[in-house]
Amino acid sequence: MSGFDGHNGENKNEMMLHYLTGLPNAGGYIMAVGKLAATSDITKYTAFQFNLKGFGNINQRYGMDRGNEIIKMVAAKIRKFLGEDEILGHLGGDTFVAMVKNDNQIKFCRFLHGIEVELPTENGVDKLKISSTIGLWEIENPLNDMGEVISNSSVALQYAKHVVHQPVVKATADMLSKVSMQKTILERYHQALDNREFLVFYQPKVDSRTKTLVGAEGLVRWIHDGEMVSPGVFIPPLERNGEIVLLDYYVLKRACEDIKNWIDQGIEPVPISVNFSRKDLLDPDLAENIDKIINASGIDKKYIEAEVTETVDEQEHGELATFISDLYMRDIKTAIDDFGAGYSSLATLREFQVHTLKIDRSFINTEDFSWKDEIILTDIIHMAKALGMDVITEGVERQDQVDFVNKVGCYVIQGFFYDRPLPYDDFVNRLKNKQY
Ligand code: C2E
Ligand code: CA
Ligand code: CA
Repeated sequence: MSGFDGHNGENKNEMMLHYLTGLPNAGGYIMAVGKLAATSDITKYTAFQFNLKGFGNINQRYGMDRGNEIIKMVAAKIRKFLGEDEILGHLGGDTFVAMVKNDNQIKFCRFLHGIEVELPTENGVDKLKISSTIGLWEIENPLNDMGEVISNSSVALQYAKHVVHQPVVKATADMLSKVSMQKTILERYHQALDNREFLVFYQPKVDSRTKTLVGAEGLVRWIHDGEMVSPGVFIPPLERNGEIVLLDYYVLKRACEDIKNWIDQGIEPVPISVNFSRKDLLDPDLAENIDKIINASGIDKKYIEAEVTETVDEQEHGELATFISDLYMRDIKTAIDDFGAGYSSLATLREFQVHTLKIDRSFINTEDFSWKDEIILTDIIHMAKALGMDVITEGVERQDQVDFVNKVGCYVIQGFFYDRPLPYDDFVNRLKNKQY
């Protein structure tokens, strides 16, 4: 396969080579893999993808030109290390791909752990040791799609860099199926919205003193190929690609329509809260659009509340403050969701004009409640109420949790103790008879 190292042989097509290292680029690499698969047993190979570590620093220290020189030297060393029947490609920047024989897998990992290069400088030579973060995918079956050698090794590399922060990660079937599920979600999303595959479930909020239904939270579910997919699966990828806002508008619309229908049928509704992802704040018209959707449905604004979570990010914090006050001016209620989980501060209570504080279940998700929890919660709830806010605790599953929450001064409860998120029809029955 010597023709594919880009330095000599049959592949003279410059379009297929990286301008800097002369190694195959993505296109050239995939072609080379195709030829390799046609002539040898591909299941004896491992697909590598790796990033050289600390290249940002190197560029800063030596400048881009010397940085490029170093990349060239490293690339040449790697190419020399690999055998004739192995392939090296350069995707760009400090990212490389390689097809390495299984027998060489460990040796190659060790080699990538510390590649030494000598860089001539004005006062001698600088000896650099360059290591890599590595993702690898062991090819177990003949390849259907040559691109998999790049995409599957990339899954492992991303996992190494962003999830486990380890130098080497092997792609597992689990990792790959999760990523492919996320891809499916993104591909089907718009169609699913058009087909109304997303349903809104309603989880009751109950006043534990009077044992009556006083509100509900709208929670989205996706019925995909006859199966119910939970938001924990499809929301993260939609947040990452910035398209979650379409779903949140959709859920709000459905909730407004449902409320309108109940009123038309003479069923007295309760206020419904709807979740807005922090990523929705990227839409500068978020508050205005929410206002428009509620108005278009013809229901009173008192029936809707927008749930948002806090953030440590300063910019997002500013956007959140603007959003909340914008809704306040428009007479639309807001709630701070997950209060007490991860980041949250008492300053929030003072700064934001929110109507409701939603205490996260992590506060009560314990076998025995400590006196410290009790003091903290009592104080928070007392302050929130003194500032005119409603307080609700979510994730309440047991009687002793109800008792504890009551003891610290919170009476409205959302949790499995009273109800799970209910499909439409079950929730309508609750609306018809609000007594628990
Ligand atoms: P969340 O907003 O904190 O919603 C509450 C979650 O807690 C729901 O999970 C609910 O089913 C669960 N839960 C309620 N009571 C209990 C309990 O007593 N015990 C336990 N163990 N869990 C309880 P779900 O429906 O799976 O939703 C998960 C998250 O997905 C939500 O957390 C929310 O962040 C997000 N989500 C759901 N629907 C939407 C939506 O329409 N838009 C956006 N942006 N996010 C949504
Ligand atoms: Ca929520
Ligand atoms: Ca919550």
